[in-house]
Amino acid sequence: MTRYDVAIVGAGVIGSAVAAALSRYQLNVLWLEAAHDVAEGASKANSGIAGTGYDMPTGTLESDLVRAASSTWEATCEALDVPFARVGSLSFAFEPGDLANVTKLAEQAADAGVRAEILEGPRLREAAGGMAPAALAALHVPGEAIVDPIRLTIGRARLAVTNGVDLRCSTPATDFRHDSDGRITHVVTPRETFAVGAVVNAAGLNADVIARAAKAENFGMWPRKGMFLLLDRAIGEQVPKILTMIPTEYTRGVLAVPTTNRTVLIGPTATDETDKSDKSTDAETLDWVWDRARDLIPHLSRDHVIKTFAGLRPASDRTYRIEVSAEVPNLVHAAGIRSTGVQSSPAVADLVCSLLESIGVRLTPRRDPQIRLPRVPRLAELSTDDAAERSGSMVVCACEHVTAAEIRAACTGPVPARSLDGVRKRTRAMAGRCQGAYCSVGVGFILSVEQGFDSWDVPQGEPGSSWGVG
Ligand SMILES: Cc1cc2nc3c(=O)[nH]c(=O)nc-3n(C[C@H](O)[C@H](O)[C@H](O)COP(=O)(O)OP(=O)(O)OC[C@H]3O[C@@H](n4cnc5c(N)ncnc54)[C@H](O)[C@@H]3O)c2cc1C
Repeated sequence: MTRYDVAIVGAGVIGSAVAAALSRYQLNVLWLEAAHDVAEGASKANSGIAGTGYDMPTGTLESDLVRAASSTWEATCEALDVPFARVGSLSFAFEPGDLANVTKLAEQAADAGVRAEILEGPRLREAAGGMAPAALAALHVPGEAIVDPIRLTIGRARLAVTNGVDLRCSTPATDFRHDSDGRITHVVTPRETFAVGAVVNAAGLNADVIARAAKAENFGMWPRKGMFLLLDRAIGEQVPKILTMIPTEYTRGVLAVPTTNRTVLIGPTATDETDKSDKSTDAETLDWVWDRARDLIPHLSRDHVIKTFAGLRPASDRTYRIEVSAEVPNLVHAAGIRSTGVQSSPAVADLVCSLLESIGVRLTPRRDPQIRLPRVPRLAELSTDDAAERSGSMVVCACEHVTAAEIRAACTGPVPARSLDGVRKRTRAMAGRCQGAYCSVGVGFILSVEQGFDSWDVPQGEPGSSWGVG
């Protein structure tokens, strides 16, 4: 039986950051994911903000990690071919009573060492570009950024697998075996049992289940649901920055967040729930979001809504539980990373590596690890001249300008797509205005050819969710 030096449980943005970081060392790493693909949990349904941490209280682990990560984004995203933009943010005050909160937030940014300025009058109007016309003032933070969290997770996964990490999807960790000192010796999955030297618990919302199965701490985790509406590029072209309301005593309001593909997210809400599988949305909550978003984006029309969806933040009785378990000496928790896991993930991975080292995992650098991913030319990201010259393939998804070559590339190589959702996450095919009404047959056909599915058995997501394109 192969013995792995480290097993990572969970392939969200945190597990992927840890896997990519560990792949730089001479280690035998096993990486288990319960779902059929990476980026299936909170990491695929969030606002995609990679912030400076300007609005976080200083001196917490969360704010330290977010701030440590903030300057690393350009290099990471360039190396992994992940869309990223430092668009800046505007937090608006609409009532005279909120102006003091703008000043307070500016002071908080100054304490955090983040550049920020209060805008009023013509400078405010110019920066806002027609947004939030009733605002009296705003705090402008130029360093706030957006990233594609799904491509970030997949990019890291590809890098890790290229460097030898053994990723097993559809393989949940269900149990653990221990030696007489209480150390984990084996991770049990439904089909196989693996001998391991150390374990990283990056199971998101299920980190509590993993901790209990490993005979470690007994902590609680629950979903904090956030609902969004996604607006098309007609609105996206008008939203230059991340737009928020100044948080008040009563509400944080809603955000309008431009995405890296120039659509706009409005939301998210934040309600504590109990059902870890319930990602439903409801009209009443979405109406509440809509009404508040009108203050930020004037002339909103429901015609621009492409889809609505919800994500589940992994909330816990303690956030940022990143530590060696006090009960199981070779278990490292990377759990309870509720609301800022995308933006903290590079620094979380560094911290997890040093915790593993502290329990005896030797981090000897690999001689020539791959640190960049080869680029697939993406029609939507090419200039007009380059597009004519370099795309060289038929367009399958007209809304998002995705070619057959891009879809084929997504279905092959390290961490290939094995479902329609997998293709959508990697290429944006079926993610545009028509939501796949026109292109899913073409995408399904290519997927069936590349992955050897019978055409009636092309899965939408998890195996068995057959869709049928025959
Ligand atoms: C509405 C919303 C908005 C957000 N906005 C932002 C934002 O703008 N910026 C930001 O930085 N963060 C944001 N977040 C938070 C961010 O999404 C999370 O902090 C982050 O995704 C957590 O990553 P994770 O890897 O811990 O969890 P997940 O992405 O949930 O990954 C955990 C993985 O573990 C797997 N797993 C579970 N059990 C097992 C098992 N037994 N065996 C194997 N695998 C298992 C799951 O299938 C899952 O894939 C937002 C979250 C939400 C919901």
